[in-house]
Parts: sequence; C-alpha cells; structure tokens
Amino acid sequence: MDLIVGNWKMNLGGRDSLQLIEGILERLKKPIPGEAVICPPATALFMAGDRVKETPLQLGCQNVFYENKGAYTGEISPEFAREAGSRYAIIGHSERRQFFSEGPEINRKIEAVLNLGMTPILCVGESLEQRDGGNAWSVVKDQLKQGLQGISTEKLSGLAIAYEPVWAIGTGKTASPEDAREMASRIIEELHHLQGLRVLYGGSVKPGNISDFMSLAEINGALVGGASLKADSFAKLIYWEK
Ligand code: PEP
Repeated sequence: MDLIVGNWKMNLGGRDSLQLIEGILERLKKPIPGEAVICPPATALFMAGDRVKETPLQLGCQNVFYENKGAYTGEISPEFAREAGSRYAIIGHSERRQFFSEGPEINRKIEAVLNLGMTPILCVGESLEQRDGGNAWSVVKDQLKQGLQGISTEKLSGLAIAYEPVWAIGTGKTASPEDAREMASRIIEELHHLQGLRVLYGGSVKPGNISDFMSLAEINGALVGGASLKADSFAKLIYWEK
C-alpha cells in the first residue's frame, strides 16, 4: 500500500501541530487511497497521537535513541514515542547524519524500533558530489549495509527505505524519475529477501510532481518535508493521482 509520510522537522510546536492536523483532517473526507503518516516534532508527539487516534492519519516520529529508558538526557525514547502513538519512525535522515554525525548507531536505532513493533523508515541518499563522482549507488549500498547489518530477515519484513538524494532535500530540485527508478530498483534488488519492502522517494516532492515518482512501479511512497507543512498540499499528496 502506498505510504505518504510528512516530516515536519523542527517546525511546529504543539499548538501549531494540532492546527495543521485539524486542517489535514478537514480535507480527508473521502477514504484515503494508501497510508498517510505525520511526523511532528517530539514535543508535540503525545498531543498529536491523541488527536489522530481513530482518524485516517497515522503517527510517526522523526528520530529515536536506541535505548528505551535511562540516563540519556535529552534523548527520545522509542518506547515513549510508541506510547504516544507512533507506529513509524524515520531513522537516519540526512539531517541527522549531517548535523548530528549519525552513522553506526543507526543500526541500533532500527533494531530498537523493530523490537517495539514499529516500522522504521530508513533514509539513504547520496550528496551531489557523490553522484557527480559516480558513487551514488555505492554510498546508498553502504548506508543500507550499515543500517541493516545483523538484523534478521524476519524482523525486517515490512521495512520502508526512503531514497532521498541529499541535494534534493529542501532545495526545490528533484531526482529525475529515471534516476529515482534506477536507485529504487537497485535497492529492491539488494534487499530482495525482505518481505513487504517499500521504497519511498524523498526530495522536494510536491503536489505538482508526486505522480512522476509514485507512478513508477518501484516506488511505493513519498517522504515529504516542506509540502507536508500545509494542510492543502499534504492532502493533495495523500490523494495523488496518476
Ligand atoms: C525530507 O525532509 O525528508 C524532505 C524530503 O524534505 P523536502 O520535501 O522539503 O525536500
């Protein structure tokens, strides 16, 4: 089933998050064709989770730590995120890799999320320099390996991978559908042993271009930043049409 995920990043507090949820819900009058997930900031997670219960919207978190509890000041517990209602967790977003030097711990985060029955959305993607140097696939392959190594095939069933070229995030530039298709098919080939794998595309997705990606057989969803912050555009993404 298609998966449309809104990553609100660090943009909305509790009140603004609730307002955006109301705006989206007002626009979801007819049944939604796939799954729609919102990922508000951690501070708004509980309120948001309460509001979306028994609505077509599902909740996800943008990041978690790999321990559920303890002396880890300031970290986000995966268990508490789930208690708030999160069913999905974005892991290894390029902003986490870039600004918080995430790397090896991504693997433990994926495992922690899976242990709680949540679905990780593992983000992978190359920089422009890496693409121009012809290394896009080797970078993505290494990120997949680092994120998933040692985790059993059974546990990983239902995993979502978001292919997000770093240079396309928040820039208004997108990968060409052909490049996105090629990367998605390599990811699928690499992870062919996983049941229920979904590959999402992320990077400046908006209502005007979502069908370029979603109509590709290899792509089953979109991870969306900027265009998920407006009720109107996020609703349009949920009801995208070929
Ligand atoms: C993202 O946050 O993962 C993202 C793809 O952002 P944007 O849609 O704004 O490029």
